[in-house]
Amino acid sequence: MDKRVEHLIKVWQKRNILGFYCENKEKAQEKILEIIPPDASIGFSGSVTLEQLDIAKALEERGNKIISHNKPGLSREESLIIRRQATQADYYLASANAISETGELVFFSAYGNRISGVSYANNAIIVCGINKITKDLEEALKRSREYATPLNCKRLNFNTPCFKDGICRSEICLFPKYKRMCCQILIIEAEILPNRLKVILIGEPLGF
Ligand code: SF4
Repeated sequence: MDKRVEHLIKVWQKRNILGFYCENKEKAQEKILEIIPPDASIGFSGSVTLEQLDIAKALEERGNKIISHNKPGLSREESLIIRRQATQADYYLASANAISETGELVFFSAYGNRISGVSYANNAIIVCGINKITKDLEEALKRSREYATPLNCKRLNFNTPCFKDGICRSEICLFPKYKRMCCQILIIEAEILPNRLKVILIGEPLGF
């Protein structure tokens, strides 16, 4: 196991965050299916990592109720309603933008559904490839803003300064000219409820 992963799992123990390591996507899918009971409802945030895991399909085929706005053809209103419902599910699945070796989890959000789900759902499971581990919190914030968000703006067709050339210009990224994606930032340092928050680190690059 990567020494950074070993260290993180230990750091999280004292912060009420339960860390797991899976060497690849397949093992991570098995772990999620093992943690989540077959009759639980599951809310999803938008995430390339979760898409790469194909975990929604696996859970749905097993009979779990999936609440996800990641479906084609939804209106803005329908999508917002589903995002809210997802945060009330038995389990909430998401990925982080970055994880600091010092233990912090960083999430940037436009609408806040991921921030709400991760911080307040009944149970939250964060799934991340080891490519998202950074040296410290400063690097984690930098990675989230300067690397992950521009790629997400491109993926989701957000009209932002970083959309075109990948460079963040936060000071001019304002409405109505631009549709800013970095509206809210969540940094998780610890969890108050034992067993509510789990992180699955996967030993291969996933998402961005
Ligand atoms: S503040 Fe705007 S330009 Fe900067 S990364 Fe976020 S969305 Fe892109």
